[in-house]
Amino acid sequence: MSIKIVSHEGLRCPMIFCDFCGDPIINKVGVYLYNAPTVKEPTDCYFAHKGECHDALEKKHNADSFQELYELPIRLLSNMSGKEDDLGEFIAIGLEKALGSSDIDGELSRHVLNQALAWHDRQHAE
Ligand SMILES: [Zn+2]
Repeated sequence: MSIKIVSHEGLRCPMIFCDFCGDPIINKVGVYLYNAPTVKEPTDCYFAHKGECHDALEKKHNADSFQELYELPIRLLSNMSGKEDDLGEFIAIGLEKALGSSDIDGELSRHVLNQALAWHDRQHAE
């Protein structure tokens, strides 16, 4: 599982890297692969670009499942919140703390929130 912190224009940016080719995964063209876990044993999670990297990594690890990478953040937040019912509150607390600060993380959270709201509005306008 390759999440690294990248320095970009003075910012410290968490990014996901492809476990096959090693390049960062951007522009929403990634997946995460895994084998079904058992009740007792969690399984490893791998990241890949769609296409050749996905196919090669699937064969290498004999992975039987994958999900779109854009699904990962909300699934992680859901599991970190403890109960599914707490997810909204968990996200709201995180945004409130970020929006309440004047540091760069607050700016980033505002930007992300504005993008999410604009996307939501576009979906419901059509
Ligand atoms: Zn790749």
